[in-house]
Amino acid sequence: MSELIDPFGRRIEYLRISVTDRCDLRCKYCIPEGFTDFEEPGHWLSFDEMERLIRIFARLGLKRVRLTGGEPLLRKNMSELAGRIAAVPGIEDLSLSTNATQLEKHAAALKAAGVTRLNVSLDSLRPGRIERINGRPAHDKIMAGIAAAKAAGFAPIKINMVALDGDNDDEIDAMVAWCMEQGFILRLIENMPMGDTGRNVRYLNLQPVKERIRQRFGLVETVLPGGGPARYLGTADGRFTVGFITPISQHFCATCNRVRLTVDGVLHLCLGQEDRFELRPLLRSGATDDEIVQTILGAVAKKPERHEFREQPQKLVRFMSMTGG
Ligand code: SAM
Repeated sequence: MSELIDPFGRRIEYLRISVTDRCDLRCKYCIPEGFTDFEEPGHWLSFDEMERLIRIFARLGLKRVRLTGGEPLLRKNMSELAGRIAAVPGIEDLSLSTNATQLEKHAAALKAAGVTRLNVSLDSLRPGRIERINGRPAHDKIMAGIAAAKAAGFAPIKINMVALDGDNDDEIDAMVAWCMEQGFILRLIENMPMGDTGRNVRYLNLQPVKERIRQRFGLVETVLPGGGPARYLGTADGRFTVGFITPISQHFCATCNRVRLTVDGVLHLCLGQEDRFELRPLLRSGATDDEIVQTILGAVAKKPERHEFREQPQKLVRFMSMTGG
């Protein structure tokens, strides 16, 4: 059986699936306020269609799946989908990215269904700031969701903070201290120029931040197994780690091992490029698994070498939640 190896020798073993493009937050760097052009429900891949695609990908060597969105927990019966994906032979790791607003009611069921890892987006610890950056007064629901995830036994939980110059850069140290105390892994993320929203916030270079945090908290370079593109610092006793995801100041495309599937069944080969392959028409016109395999192999053969966020920041019209961040 063929494997998913792209022209640059990168093995694709990680699929991120957006299960909805809708979200209950309006982060200022992501979905524009007032945006209404969401995908029609009739175009959403069904759970059967998603499971079929994952089975096909798994035959091609896929090992890891992440459920994302939009806000994935707005899609109904997510724990059922999680259970179905976790049961696919070959899938070793099933993770979920969430803003945690709906997590309080779903955390235990997701854990029981086989979600192994949880990433929670959290750009501030302050209620007023969450409302300003994330567009809704969601602080209390988010905190309740995170507490429920902890109680359900998710460990370690990763907290993802998009670092924004002038919005929350003065809170990074407080976030480090809070994650240390809570036992969470923190990841600081550089904002990407995706869509007008992604271009309308002020980018913060995380390289100097990394140096400052290293010194202030006495951290050392650390490697986190399966840690993805982040570069990590940690305490010497290994009890705390903070990762830096730096697509702009130091990109990591050479080790990219992933592709992305949107809720309407479009396969994106690169977050920062427009290359796309429509899988929904195949799924809905009676294509065989082998025909779908050929399309996926053809798509991976066209995976771009790298994004061009720096060279061509105006290039991407789509904002993050349309692709699935
Ligand atoms: N709603 C889920 C969540 O909040 O994790 C999943 C989807 S959300 C689009 C995934 C991640 O993308 C979030 O951590 C969000 O902060 C991040 N994101 C959105 N737009 C971004 C941008 N322009 N640059 C960097 N990260 C972005």
